[in-house]
Amino acid sequence: MKRVIKGVTLECTTGDISKQPDMDAIVNAANAQLRIGGGVAGAIHRAAGPGLEEECRLWAPIRPGEAVITGAHRLPNRYVIHCLGPVYGADEPASELLASCYLNSLRRAEEKGVRSVAFPAISTGAFGYPIEPAARIAFTTIFQELPWLSSVKHIRFVLFSEADHRLHSKLLEKMSPPSE
Ligand code: ADP
Repeated sequence: MKRVIKGVTLECTTGDISKQPDMDAIVNAANAQLRIGGGVAGAIHRAAGPGLEEECRLWAPIRPGEAVITGAHRLPNRYVIHCLGPVYGADEPASELLASCYLNSLRRAEEKGVRSVAFPAISTGAFGYPIEPAARIAFTTIFQELPWLSSVKHIRFVLFSEADHRLHSKLLEKMSPPSE
């Protein structure tokens, strides 16, 4: 599923966030200490090698909603953007903190002149955020930010399951502005 809105390609795919060699930057659904962990963080750190965790020590800890950018080490990308999503039911206001993750990740990308960035579904794994409201927040935030993007021209959502992919594709289609 692909849409071009205000000159930016938005895309949903199924796959592994650590295997997106055509993207300048990938986003890590990180933990506060920016350590290896499970899920997305595990896949990214395993593929990047120990140099990533070492670089991350300079930035840790981060708070929910924050994002920091590092090199990508052995990954085939230029950068990794690490953001800490809210733990559903614990970090409040959850929806604002989740929106901040997307907003701050895009800001970090713009600061480095990144042209393409791949996001996982932040907070929807170990952190327990229900997938549909999380996807709505992701798209709403990105749509609001599109007019202010200058370097970022391609945003990809990489979903781990076919069900999550279908849901994101359906929502992207439904929520896209009608004229585009
Ligand atoms: P969080 O702690 O922010 O919830 P997780 O890494 O536990 O982060 O999960 C976030 C989402 O990413 C979940 O929907 C999960 O199914 C998915 N996911 C897990 N591993 C990968 C991967 N390698 N690539 C893309 N998505 C993944």
